[in-house]
Amino acid sequence: MKALVLQEYNRLAFEDAPTPEPNPEEVQVSIKACGICGSDVHGMDGSTGRRRPPLIMGHEAAGVISRVGKNVTGWQPGDRVTFDSTIYCGECEFCVRGEINLCESRRVLGVSCEEYRQHGAFAEFVVVPQRILYRLPQGVPFEHASLVEPFAIALHAVKRAQAKNGDAAVVVGAGMIGLGLAQALKHVGCAPVIVVDVVDDRLALAEKCGATHTINSARKNALNSILNLTQGRGADVACEAVGVTATVELALRCARKGGSVALVGNVAPSIAFPLQTAVTRELNIFGSCASRGEYPECLDLLARGILKPAPLISAVAPLAEGAVWFDRLRRKEPGLLKVVLQP
Ligand SMILES: [Zn+2]
Ligand SMILES: [Zn+2]
Repeated sequence: MKALVLQEYNRLAFEDAPTPEPNPEEVQVSIKACGICGSDVHGMDGSTGRRRPPLIMGHEAAGVISRVGKNVTGWQPGDRVTFDSTIYCGECEFCVRGEINLCESRRVLGVSCEEYRQHGAFAEFVVVPQRILYRLPQGVPFEHASLVEPFAIALHAVKRAQAKNGDAAVVVGAGMIGLGLAQALKHVGCAPVIVVDVVDDRLALAEKCGATHTINSARKNALNSILNLTQGRGADVACEAVGVTATVELALRCARKGGSVALVGNVAPSIAFPLQTAVTRELNIFGSCASRGEYPECLDLLARGILKPAPLISAVAPLAEGAVWFDRLRRKEPGLLKVVLQP
């Protein structure tokens, strides 16, 4: 098969690779669309230690089942599917509780680290266990379905933070996850939905994603603006989708007393933390990692047009041109958000 292979750090090649064969419990999926994730773009230079070459990256994908292992039930060649980015074991303490994102032997597709190498979906075919598959609703195109993963991450964070109808909500960071958060917060009935970023075209996208107010924090004092928009009390729910000191600090300071903060971004592994704000205002702070069980709901919301991937897709391009698109994303070309590759 053809695949986009990370041959060495920062060097991608579109070349022949062995076609993966399914084990008895696995299916082989013919990939029709696979999104480039920020973690692929950052990781391909070796800085995260999670994209060790040689590797086929890619974990946001959709396609058609091409072969099934002999113990697979309920799935057939021709089924249109997407799959979780995480392969969980289904048996550990966490999986048994349904906390599959916390699985003890979690493997992420398209990742290689010290513990494992799991080839991903920037290829004609990928093999995955049947338990991580989800059926695509009618009418959801593959390019849209490939974005279900980031939407599921956003929906999971909104649930962690217990955002509900009528809550004043803030999203810090209008990247892919932040824009998904804006859509998910709007879906649960939050108002206002205030999105903060430092890039104007991201904020313009946020308006298409349900933001009622946007704030460019490079030009304005975001905390004061949020307080003005919430009668001085702060937001019921704040979601942080960057992960550096300044943005986490804003998320914590803009939450009302007793409010909730979901921490999703983690660009920096550790940060300075406004401890007194968190303690004296009795904030509820939730870490939120990946997703667990939100895929079916997300697919349904995509099919009903409630979650909207279209504004987030900057380009759909052939997998053969993948190296060029990775390069453009790495150089942070203005206006580029999600790029979807098609084998
Ligand atoms: Zn991702
Ligand atoms: Zn497990």
